[in-house]
Amino acid sequence: MLKFDNRFCRELPGDPESGNFVRQVTGACWSQVQPTPVPAPRLLAFSPDMAARLGLTGAALQGMDWLQALSGNRLLPGMTSYATCYGGHQFGQWAGQLGDGRVIFLGEVLDAQGQRWELQLKGAGPTPYSRRADGRAVLRSSLREFLCSEAMHHLGVPSTRALSLVATGDGVLRDMFYDGHPQLEPGAIVCRVAPSFIRFGHFELPAARGDRILLQRLVDFTLARDFPELQGPPGERLPLWFAEVCRRTAWMVAGWMQVGFVHGVMNTDNMSILGLTMDYGPYGWIDDFDPGWTPNTTDAAGRRYCFGRQPEIARWNLERLAQALALIHPDEASLAAGIDVFEQAYNDRMAQCFAGKFGFSTWQEGDGELISAALELLHQGELDMTLFFRCLGQVERAAPRVELLQPAAYDERRWAACQPALAAWLQRYGQRLGQEGEADAARRARMEGFNPRYVLRNYLAQQAIDEAEEGNMGLLETLLEVLRHPYAEQAERAELAALRPDWARHRAGCSMLSCSS
Ligand code: AMP
Ligand code: MG
Repeated sequence: MLKFDNRFCRELPGDPESGNFVRQVTGACWSQVQPTPVPAPRLLAFSPDMAARLGLTGAALQGMDWLQALSGNRLLPGMTSYATCYGGHQFGQWAGQLGDGRVIFLGEVLDAQGQRWELQLKGAGPTPYSRRADGRAVLRSSLREFLCSEAMHHLGVPSTRALSLVATGDGVLRDMFYDGHPQLEPGAIVCRVAPSFIRFGHFELPAARGDRILLQRLVDFTLARDFPELQGPPGERLPLWFAEVCRRTAWMVAGWMQVGFVHGVMNTDNMSILGLTMDYGPYGWIDDFDPGWTPNTTDAAGRRYCFGRQPEIARWNLERLAQALALIHPDEASLAAGIDVFEQAYNDRMAQCFAGKFGFSTWQEGDGELISAALELLHQGELDMTLFFRCLGQVERAAPRVELLQPAAYDERRWAACQPALAAWLQRYGQRLGQEGEADAARRARMEGFNPRYVLRNYLAQQAIDEAEEGNMGLLETLLEVLRHPYAEQAERAELAALRPDWARHRAGCSMLSCSS
């Protein structure tokens, strides 16, 4: 039996209207709403780690009570269902009220260690915030979210988690390419889990409406529930807290850059106050290294959310949060100090991550230039980011051989063209390593802690989707297991660490993704 303690609903004002119709909700943080039942729920997968953390056994999750709860057909004792109200800046523009349009919370659980976890169902039917959409989610996007949030967690990048993936038995109509050809696709629901799903947009909306009272209540609540460790006089706690959000956001984005993750939709409504990677939509993983790559077809023209711009956009989003908080905390200089914390924390963490990726045990003068030169060559030579760094770990500092890097090459001609420059770079790299005097094996072991062997390559997720749509969960389960130890060699699974195959280069779902989900 889980212990529920639903503070969000208990302590924050709710919407007095209880009907489930689309509306503007003012003066309230949430609306009561029931999930819409589904006809034939089936548990497709669950995360044993997340289940264990909550004190749930696999057998319990596979039982009828939990199947009904995870599909939105029934609430278990202690649960309460609601959707929350937030706004956001989408692609740089203020978008007004958004809110949980297809997410319905089940409440807050306290685990055996006293950690609080919010549970929510994504795709459980319409809410007052659904605007013109149906409140549902398709299997392909749900499977991507389920797998990737667990993978990110095990990579050591802060993320919301996923407990379960349930097929609804219903068809969901989606126009995947926005070309006027909608198709019925299988529906699914993910149960997501995080200590808090509060977003920047939760603060932006009352601020945009000039509602100081609601904004203050939400800030007080967030501080009390989600940041109890931050102490200080009332006037000083808000800037302290904002600086902490900046620090965590910096850490998260540096993690994305370390592992080659592109979020794809860094709107402020998708930014977590806890600095967790959240709202996995048209995200992607870097195969061949290209800082200008965005997986999101909606973003293809502007490339606002491409890999290389993620730190800049994170900062822009934090500035929007600061702007919202300024309504109740007019001392702008103290909020601006938080932005400086972001810059500093990002630079520090990036230096740590990239020193780790290249095997430097300390940061020395000239390392930044040496690293930039390598990244430029990765781009020119069309080298796979993940494989390159694992291959680099094999290099012997006394006699660095460029051929060791060839397994990361996608294209023979481009490899041949960049090989001389790469060989020259390797000589400098060998000299740099020589200054540390560390044994090759020790350096390699350290590098392998920063350079994953396995990431959720876009084509692997797509293959798991293709199989799941045929009723086969084998690859999904294999990926879930392998990605629990992404830095370990797992030689028997080497095929899952291979270069993206040629067929996947331009296939939808493998190199480009639409927001339709
Ligand atoms: P996203 O682009 O996924 O971050 O979503 C932006 C907003 O659209 C959020 O308020 C979502 O709740 C809402 N939304 C996205 N898809 C749906 C859907 N199928 N039904 C209802 N609301 C949706
Ligand atoms: Mg979202």
